[in-house]
Amino acid sequence: MVVVGGHRPTQLVIDCQALRANIHTEVDRLAAGCDLFMVVKANGYGHGAVQVAQAAKEAGATGFCVAILDEALELRAAGFDEPILVLGVTEPADAPVMVEQNISVAVADLEWLELATRSLSLFEMVQPLPVHLALDTGMGRIGFQTKAEVEVVVDFLRQHPAQFNFEGIFTHFSTADDPNDDYFQKQVAKWHDLTDWLPQKPRYVHVSNSATSLWHDACNGNMVRFGAAGYGLNPSGTAIAEPYPLQPAMSLTSELMQARLVPAGSSVSYGATYTLPEDEWIGTVSVGYADGYPRRMQGFDVLVDGQRCEIVGRVCMDQLMVRLPHRYPRRTKVTLIGQDGHERITLQDIADYCDTIHYEIACGFTTRVPRVYRH
Ligand SMILES: *Cc1c(COP(=O)(O)O)cnc(C)c1O
Repeated sequence: MVVVGGHRPTQLVIDCQALRANIHTEVDRLAAGCDLFMVVKANGYGHGAVQVAQAAKEAGATGFCVAILDEALELRAAGFDEPILVLGVTEPADAPVMVEQNISVAVADLEWLELATRSLSLFEMVQPLPVHLALDTGMGRIGFQTKAEVEVVVDFLRQHPAQFNFEGIFTHFSTADDPNDDYFQKQVAKWHDLTDWLPQKPRYVHVSNSATSLWHDACNGNMVRFGAAGYGLNPSGTAIAEPYPLQPAMSLTSELMQARLVPAGSSVSYGATYTLPEDEWIGTVSVGYADGYPRRMQGFDVLVDGQRCEIVGRVCMDQLMVRLPHRYPRRTKVTLIGQDGHERITLQDIADYCDTIHYEIACGFTTRVPRVYRH
């Protein structure tokens, strides 16, 4: 099989040691009996779902969360037999494959269960489908909104024990990464209103993403859905200090493909937006927006042999140009994310420059960039 990108020096280097350290530190901080499920949706936030799941398992994670069914199937195909929870809304017609693969699924409305009952009736049940009820306490995305709705669905589950195993109940906070916790506390109150009456709690009661577990761990329940922080990314960006140092796991490196002395008065890249005021050494790097390196990065820096160099002219689809302080040989190391010598560029720096969050940059790297794992 041809690996597209295998003959180019551009790579995402993933530090499995950093993944394990972040996850292990959190597992150690959790109250006794509280599980950590590593969130590996979106190809493990761009880091590679299977490899992140492996590192997480080694560090003490006891299950995984994903966003869509196929991501769960990918982990099962790779041989993981831990619990896997699909957090997003799925197709009720796919309930049989979930049963077959023992995949737990978020349920956000009663109709889903009714339709799933129908698709399961055509299927020989080896075991009931594990379901987690999604409660909307203020995220405004999916789930049951009132106590009356929760009562009805819990009753439905009790009446269909052959089809469904009521395995979990959960909610999701929209502002757990905000220094102001007013809205967070409203969601906590709503959560209590929707769940305190339950005579019997299911196996997993969970509310915490990374931010909640890092900064509001009193509400953790008995499982946390640990995402960003496991990858070494502060979920608040820079708004709240990390309770322990998070180690970023992702670096993006390449090499100079060419370095040339370009004469004063020439321009660089599409639109000729940069014109050389004097003769300058211009280096070309084989990374572009087709790789997920944002086009808006013009004017930002990369590290060439550990030295900050500015990206001049527009970032192209497959290449970008930098201004070098002097001549460098072809194949000189270029670091777009990560550390080289005393200088360091983080995903957070890139996100800030693009006016977005590190999550979007991390999961935006495309399959053309091979992921290389340092164990
Ligand atoms: C993505 C997601 C998480 C993980 O969030 P982080 O901020 O990355 O820790 C947890 N729960 C749900 C429902 C999610 O969608």
